[in-house]
Amino acid sequence: ASMKADQTTTATCGYCATGCGLRLHVRDGQAVGLTPETQYPVNLGMACPKGWEALEVLDADDRATSPLLRAGKGQPQERVDWDTALKTFVSRFKAIQEQHGDHSVAFLSTGQIPCEEMAYLGALAKFGMGMLHGDGNTRQCMATAVTAYKESFGFDAPPYTYDDFEQSDCLVFVGSNPCIGHPIMWERVLRNQNDPEIIVLDPRRTETAMAATQHLQLQPKSDLEVLYAITQVIIENGWIDRDFIEAHTNGFEALAKHVQPYTPEQVAQRSGLSVHTLRRAAESIAHAKAASLWWTMGVNQSYQGTRTAQAIINLALITGNIGRPGTGANSITGQCNAMGSRLWSNTTNLLGHHRFESAEDRNRVASILGIDSQRIPDQPSWSYDRIIEGIKNDEIKGLWVIATNPAHSWIDQDQCRELLDQLDFLVVQDMYHSTETAVQADLVLPAAGWGEKEGTFINSERRYGLLKKVRKAPGEALADFQIFRAVAQYWGVPEMFEKWDAPEAVFQTMQELSAGRPNDLTGIDGYRQLDQCGGIQWPWSRDDAKRHRTPEQQRRLFADGKFLHQDGKARLIVERPSPMPEAPCEDYPFLLLSGRGTVSQWHTQTRTGKSLVLGKLYPQNPYVEIHPHDAKQIGIANGDGVTVISRRGKVDVLAMVTPTVQSGQVFMPMHYEVTNRLTLSHFDPHSRQPSFKDCAVAIVPR
Ligand code: SF4
Repeated sequence: ASMKADQTTTATCGYCATGCGLRLHVRDGQAVGLTPETQYPVNLGMACPKGWEALEVLDADDRATSPLLRAGKGQPQERVDWDTALKTFVSRFKAIQEQHGDHSVAFLSTGQIPCEEMAYLGALAKFGMGMLHGDGNTRQCMATAVTAYKESFGFDAPPYTYDDFEQSDCLVFVGSNPCIGHPIMWERVLRNQNDPEIIVLDPRRTETAMAATQHLQLQPKSDLEVLYAITQVIIENGWIDRDFIEAHTNGFEALAKHVQPYTPEQVAQRSGLSVHTLRRAAESIAHAKAASLWWTMGVNQSYQGTRTAQAIINLALITGNIGRPGTGANSITGQCNAMGSRLWSNTTNLLGHHRFESAEDRNRVASILGIDSQRIPDQPSWSYDRIIEGIKNDEIKGLWVIATNPAHSWIDQDQCRELLDQLDFLVVQDMYHSTETAVQADLVLPAAGWGEKEGTFINSERRYGLLKKVRKAPGEALADFQIFRAVAQYWGVPEMFEKWDAPEAVFQTMQELSAGRPNDLTGIDGYRQLDQCGGIQWPWSRDDAKRHRTPEQQRRLFADGKFLHQDGKARLIVERPSPMPEAPCEDYPFLLLSGRGTVSQWHTQTRTGKSLVLGKLYPQNPYVEIHPHDAKQIGIANGDGVTVISRRGKVDVLAMVTPTVQSGQVFMPMHYEVTNRLTLSHFDPHSRQPSFKDCAVAIVPR
C-alpha cells in the first residue's frame, strides 16, 4: 500500500522509435509503476516488454553515480567531484586542440537523448568548442533512409502515419521484422480489417515472414535486383499510374530503361526465387487499392542500401502509392529519437536540417541563436566511419561519446576498441559506468536517463512526444542537458547559451529554426500542448494551427503530390547493383547475417540487460542460428559449442540449429557483445552507413 500512486502522468517511451505513450504512476514525485497509455494515438493501450520494464533498469547497481577519472593510461578509474571532472574535461580537450588544432577533438552522439539535448550538444561542440566533426549512432541505423529520402523527395521526410498499417490492403516489408523490431507497429498490422496481402522480403524466415501471405526468401543482398524485377513486371504490364508519374516525378524513362534487363527470368536464379513468386508479388502490389512499402535495417545496413531504399520509393511512386491512406514508401526508424538526431544533432546537417555549406543558412541560424555566423563551420562533419579512421590517422586525438556504445556496436569491433585506446583523451557520458565504451574511458560523466529528465522525442511517424521527469537520478548523475550547460560554463562560453536555461527554451529555438521549412513546428503551443494532444506530428505550422485549431491525430505527407525538390517533383533514382564485398569462399563458407534477436532486448543491452524479467525472455549465452543441413555436415547438434571465425576475429557461441536460416547462411543477434568482432568494415557509399549484414565466416565445433 505504501507504493500506491498519488498521481499519474504520461510520457513517451525511451527505447524504440514507435514512441508509445506510457502512463507513469507517481508517488511523492517518484514513479513507482507504469502501464501503457490507452489514450495515446500511437500504441492505443499496448506496450512491449521493454516498455513495461522501463523503470526497473533505472535502479541497476552499475548506474554511474559520480564522475570517474583515470589519473593516466593504465590507471584505474577513480571517483572525483564534478568540479574536478569538468576542469579536467576542459583542460585536456583544450590542450589537445592547442597542440593538434580545433578539429582534433570530435564527438559521437546518439538517437537516445531528447532533441533539446542534441541541439545543445551540437551547438556547444561546434559553435562553442570549435569542433568540426561529430556524428550520431544514427549513422548505424538511419543514414541510408535519410540519404534516400533527401535525394528522392528533396527532404528527409518519411511520409506515413501509423494508421497506414491498418488502412493498407497490401503491406510489403523489406528487410524488416516488425514482430520483433517494432512489436506495437506489428500489433497495428494485426488490427488491419482489409484482409491484407503481407509480403515479406527477407533471407531469414523471421517471425514476420512466418505470418506473411508471401515470403520472398531471397538470397542476401539480392534485394535490389528483386525490387528491380518487380518494377520491371509492373512497367511491362502497364500497371503504372501514368498520370501520377507525369505530374509528380522525374526520371521515369531512365527507370524503365534501367529495369528492362531485370526480368523475373534473369533475377530468379541470383535471388533464389521463382519467376512465379516474383510475378505474383508484382501483381499484388500493382493491384492493391492501397499498397504500403516498409523497410528497416535489412535495407539500411547494406553496402547498397541507399539505392535499395530508392528502389522501394520508386515502386511506391510509379504505382501512385503515396500521400493516400494505407500507402507510402516508409522507412521505420529504430531509436526513440533517431529522427531528432536527423533534424537536430548539428552533425551532417546544420541545426534543423539547414546546410552548413550555405551562407544563407548559416546566417539564418546564427541570427536566431544570436551568435556570430563565423562560429558556424562551412562544411558538414565527417561521418562516423571517417571519425574512426581519423583516430587511426592521428587526426582525431580527443573524443566525447554521449549515450552510445561504439566499443560494442561499431562494425569490426576489435579495431574500434584498439582505436579508442589510442586516443589521448576519451570521455564517455552515460547512465552506466559498465558499458564496453565507458570502461575504456579516461573520464566518465554520470548521466540521468529516460524518466529522470525532460525533453522531446520524434517517433517514426514524425510525432513529437514529451519525455518527463518522474524519478530523481541516482547519486550525482545529472541530466545531459545540465552537463552541457556545465561544460559551456567551464569552457567559457556560457553567454552563448544564456537563453537555454531549460529544455523548453531550446524547443522554442527549434520552433524558430523550423519556421517556413518542411519540418515546421511553429504551430505547437509548447510542451503543454504536446502533453494534451498525445504528441504532434511535424509539420505543424502557425498557419496550420490557425486554420485547424487542434492538430488532427494522424497526418501523412505528400497528399497534394508536391514533393520537396524545387520543381515539386520526386526523383526516380537507379543504379547498377554491386557485388558483395566479402562473399563466402572455401575457407569462410557461410554468410553471417546479424540483426535483432528478440523483442525483449535493446541494442547493446546497456539498459535492458539490467532487467531480470527481460533476461528471462532471452538466452544469456550468445548463439548462432544454423540450418539443420549445415549443422549435420559440420557434425554439430542443437546447443553444441561452436567457434565462429571471420577474417577479423573468432568467437565461441552455442549452435541453435533451426531452419529459419537458409543453408549457407548463419545469423547472430547484435545484442551480444561478440557479434561485431566478426563483422567487416564496409559502407554504403552514399550514406556511409555500415553494412552489418554480410560477411563470410567459418564454423567449427568446439
Ligand atoms: Fe513501444 Fe518501442 Fe517502448 Fe516497446 S520499446 S513500449 S514498442 S516505444
